[in-house]
Amino acid sequence: MKHTHNFYRDLLDNLYDGVYLVDRDRTITYWNRGAERLSGFAAGEVVGSCCRDNILVHVDFRGRMLCAEGCPLAGAMEDGIERQAEIFLRHKDGHRLPVLVRVAPIRDAEGCITGAVEVFSDNSARMADLQKIEELQQQAFFDPLTALANRRYLELTLQTRLEEMARYGWRFGVLFLDVDHFKHINDRYGHETGDTALKMVAKTLAHCSRSFDTVGRWGGEEFVAIIVGVDETDVLAAAERYRQVIMHSALGVGSETVRMTVSIGATLAAPDDTAGSIVKRADELMYRSKQAGRNCITSDL
Ligand code: GH3
Ligand code: MG
Ligand code: MG
Repeated sequence: MKHTHNFYRDLLDNLYDGVYLVDRDRTITYWNRGAERLSGFAAGEVVGSCCRDNILVHVDFRGRMLCAEGCPLAGAMEDGIERQAEIFLRHKDGHRLPVLVRVAPIRDAEGCITGAVEVFSDNSARMADLQKIEELQQQAFFDPLTALANRRYLELTLQTRLEEMARYGWRFGVLFLDVDHFKHINDRYGHETGDTALKMVAKTLAHCSRSFDTVGRWGGEEFVAIIVGVDETDVLAAAERYRQVIMHSALGVGSETVRMTVSIGATLAAPDDTAGSIVKRADELMYRSKQAGRNCITSDL
């Protein structure tokens, strides 16, 4: 019997995962080497204390403290059902460690629950995967050069705004902005300075837009702004504001100052519009601003 006991103990101790046992009062009765390695706490420091004493301070993704509410060990002893959760525990050094926790009740020969076992394993790799997925999702809507929303995001936002308009009657305006003679900047100062200039325009647009409006990069040196809750006057006022701030911003290149202007097309969404038809209309209006001498606004309002 003694021999068997040691066999299991050795087995548990040599598991890579952390394993610990609690009795019905959630007092820790066993703590394997894996648990020591993962948590930084030696068996001597934790055996005999109650897991409620907040040694590991399990929290879930929302920062909910699990010791007080939702302790998986307490749950498994309550209903006798095994469970699994992705949570964070606190390492002895203080940092948070993502772990995958599996919990099962322990029963005696009569089937009464006498305690529970928790197996926890390092979940960092999986967490890194999840974070990566989130990043990729963000990247799908993000223009890396300017850090603005990209064309795909603008198209989705236009669709949402159109649905809102159909449902609640909220009107919105769309501006198409194209940097004037941008090719000159590339030709004269090089593509890299061209990139810096685009970033500056993007930053200026982002800073002077209201939080509920959306400004993004449509492509190349073209930007689209979606202005919500507006009538004809407001759309034109927003367009004029953008035109002015860009005209008055400047980029220093060596001893020279590069100035830029934009030509703008402004329109309001109509009930029979699609995302494509609004942008096409705003683009055509922008083109008329080019023909009229650039650095100006054309609208159909
Ligand atoms: P217009 O006033 O008629 O709009 O003249 P423009 O020179 O701005 O227009 P055009 O369409 O002839 O040229 C746009 C230029 O923008 C050409 C292209 O190389 C440059 N461009 C597009 N995307 C980028 C980019 O990401 N970085 C840089 N540096 N240049 C870009
Ligand atoms: Mg262009
Ligand atoms: Mg241009």
